[in-house]
Amino acid sequence: MVVAGAAAGLGGSRQVQAQEKMARATRGMPSPKIKDVTVIATQPAGARLTVVKVVTDQDGLYGYGCATFTQRADAVVVAVEKYLRPLLIGKPVNRIEDIWQTCYNSSYWRNGPVLNNAISGVDEALWDIKGRQAGMPVYELWGGKCREAILTFANTGGADPKQVVDGVRQAMARGYTHVRVGAGYGRRAGGGGQAEPTGPKGLHEGPVFDRGANLRLMLQIFEVCRKDIGFEVELMHDMHERYSPREAIQFVKDCERFKLYFLEDPLSPEDNDWYRQMRSQCATPIAMGELFNSPHEWTPLIVERLIDYIRCHVSQVSGVTQARKIASLAEQFGVKTAWHGPNDVSPVGHTAQLHLDLASYNFGIQEGGIITGVLAEMFKGCAAFKDGYLWASDTPGWGVEVDEKMAAKFPYGANEQGEHGRLNGGWGELRLSDGTVIKQ
Ligand code: MG
Repeated sequence: MVVAGAAAGLGGSRQVQAQEKMARATRGMPSPKIKDVTVIATQPAGARLTVVKVVTDQDGLYGYGCATFTQRADAVVVAVEKYLRPLLIGKPVNRIEDIWQTCYNSSYWRNGPVLNNAISGVDEALWDIKGRQAGMPVYELWGGKCREAILTFANTGGADPKQVVDGVRQAMARGYTHVRVGAGYGRRAGGGGQAEPTGPKGLHEGPVFDRGANLRLMLQIFEVCRKDIGFEVELMHDMHERYSPREAIQFVKDCERFKLYFLEDPLSPEDNDWYRQMRSQCATPIAMGELFNSPHEWTPLIVERLIDYIRCHVSQVSGVTQARKIASLAEQFGVKTAWHGPNDVSPVGHTAQLHLDLASYNFGIQEGGIITGVLAEMFKGCAAFKDGYLWASDTPGWGVEVDEKMAAKFPYGANEQGEHGRLNGGWGELRLSDGTVIKQ
């Protein structure tokens, strides 16, 4: 028995080893753990960019995520370094959903742009790590590409319709088929104008926003664009939530005849309930969501089919884990994605969006994502741009490497003067001619 047992034991040992080997292959290698969470705070061009780096205890394995909330950048840095970092050290990097839920619930009071951006930085870094571990771009982990490249739109604006027509033609000559147009005579081109003071003296000394004048000018712009160029080009406009619900509904109705691709942010999130009335009165496609932070904001608009494009800012909704859930929900209700992509999304964030766009069946159109100049030097591996489309690389993870030494040479404030510098990256104020402050 002893001999037989020894023989059986030897065979059993081999068997156990084989089983262990197979189990290891099945369950994968033990997960690396989070060794450090750091912040890259840099301002090489206009906006203050915040990128989170998650470092693992496995040599050379790390990832990057976008946590950019440029108007309150320092607050996000504190949220990551003082609150999320201690929570995350030692956790296994493979548990992305668990870590997202842990971070989301760890402050008891949830949502909000500061916490959501901090979570986004960690969340996207963990997906980057998972892609690097798998040796695959992240879009492969999400089911692979639904399309070869990503449709984008151009922006143009002008003080009069002719300038805008010229801008649209130039964009078309560069290969764009979709152009977002704005009155563009103010400091926020594309979003609408900010005129010099027009009211009686003494009411308000600074520049003002004239709602009526801006809406009239936009109707003229669309009229001239359709007359001069026709309907071959798709046109959009960002209303930037600056109008009263009644003004917005009237304008969206007035625009029906121009057959726009979409009108963006016609109402502020506080006026979400008015979308039912807007939808019941006209057929102009609506894009909404860049200011949303909470599922309570986007869920009703999607499930009641009140909008056509969900336009959340991915880091503001806490990263790609949450954005994928939004995209899946939207798909069930015939709503397409058009993630917000201005220059206050870091190149890491733009690339994460590109992977979302490639793997989401209900992708509609993407804003931004063309990384050039000093940003392309600092963030290597971003998308290639050609004829209005963005093309992703097949490098594992996001495929982006950050030159951290270079980033350190551009601390917050390095490329900032005037009011933005005085306000530490914050925005100032926008007022009507009588001095009433309105949404920006
Ligand atoms: Mg917008």
